[in-house]
Amino acid sequence: MVYQPAENRYESMVYRRCGKSGLMLPAISLGLWHNFGGVDTLENARAMVRRAFDLGITHFDLANNYGPPPGSAEESFGVLFKQDLKPFRDELIVSSKAGYRMWPGPYGEWGSRKNLVASCDQSLRRMGLEYVDIFYSHRPDPETPLEETMGALDYIVRSGRALYAGISSYTPEQTQRAAAILRELGTPCLIHQPSYSMFNRWVEDGLLDVLADEGMGAIVFSPLAQGLLTARYLDGIPEDSRAAKPWGFLRARNITPDKLQKVAQLNDLARERGQTLAEMAIAWILRQPVITSVLVGASSPAQIEDNVGALANLSLSEDELNTIEEILAS
Ligand code: NDP
Repeated sequence: MVYQPAENRYESMVYRRCGKSGLMLPAISLGLWHNFGGVDTLENARAMVRRAFDLGITHFDLANNYGPPPGSAEESFGVLFKQDLKPFRDELIVSSKAGYRMWPGPYGEWGSRKNLVASCDQSLRRMGLEYVDIFYSHRPDPETPLEETMGALDYIVRSGRALYAGISSYTPEQTQRAAAILRELGTPCLIHQPSYSMFNRWVEDGLLDVLADEGMGAIVFSPLAQGLLTARYLDGIPEDSRAAKPWGFLRARNITPDKLQKVAQLNDLARERGQTLAEMAIAWILRQPVITSVLVGASSPAQIEDNVGALANLSLSEDELNTIEEILAS
């Protein structure tokens, strides 16, 4: 059936300005790292993308290697784009990245101009897009001059392959240098994509200050600690969960009794607020004004609905913030 997006799709989503740029991003964006690959069912992927867009999620985040197998998430998105989203291209922000291993030989990963430009072309072909909105250097490369990697991003933007440039998982110092090089080249660094959640707070140690100083936006990945910061694992490891699957980085051994005890306490606090834990974990991240968007993953439309439900109550009192700190420190 031809997809007709919900007419009220822009009524409840919150859009936040990405740093000092002209671009607004939805406070909640959808990442296609897991559950959109060749091993997954396209119809579930379609249902999630449709539900997300119906809820005002205009931003879909990909990378060359998402799958498994690598590249297949972009291929699936390409099918969904062609069949469902093509008429709405100008309402969408699609991103991709290069930097992790994608093809054999010395040019299939890291930060050379050769890798970034070739990978961007491959991503565009897989997705059937003329351009991506944001193209990222997926990780810093200790061996390639930063000038070369940033020069490649600048070229990718100037050649029309992307509208904006971004970086992911760069340290505060690397971010400052990258921003200065890109500014000099005339293609400002739009955004940084770091990991951030209640269980992983490295960005609080300098990166967020650098982003505020540089006027860059931030979109944070794994905000729910890959599902740990939800009620998903409170009663064991469900068969259809990420931790039960043979691929990916969330393993059963990461779900420790110590973490689960904290999750249970956080879950109680969320319930007192009339929220799910996923909603509270997202509200906690959005308390930081420098963070533009929370980049969630999902395995069902219901999870996306739950996550967007966070917007109904984003305020956290001093008492609640202190309780969260106590639980995390316990
Ligand atoms: P999350 O921390 O949001 O984890 C997503 C998982 O949590 C889902 O697959 C699901 O697990 C579970 N989940 C989500 N919502 C709910 C809910 N409401 N209730 C219960 N469980 C829920 O993020 P990801 O780790 O998936 O990362 C998000 C995105 O960030 C990626 O898709 C990718 O775009 C980007 N990313 C970027 C990286 C980078 O290096 N730049 C690295 C990693 C991710 P289940 O499948 O078990 O149902």
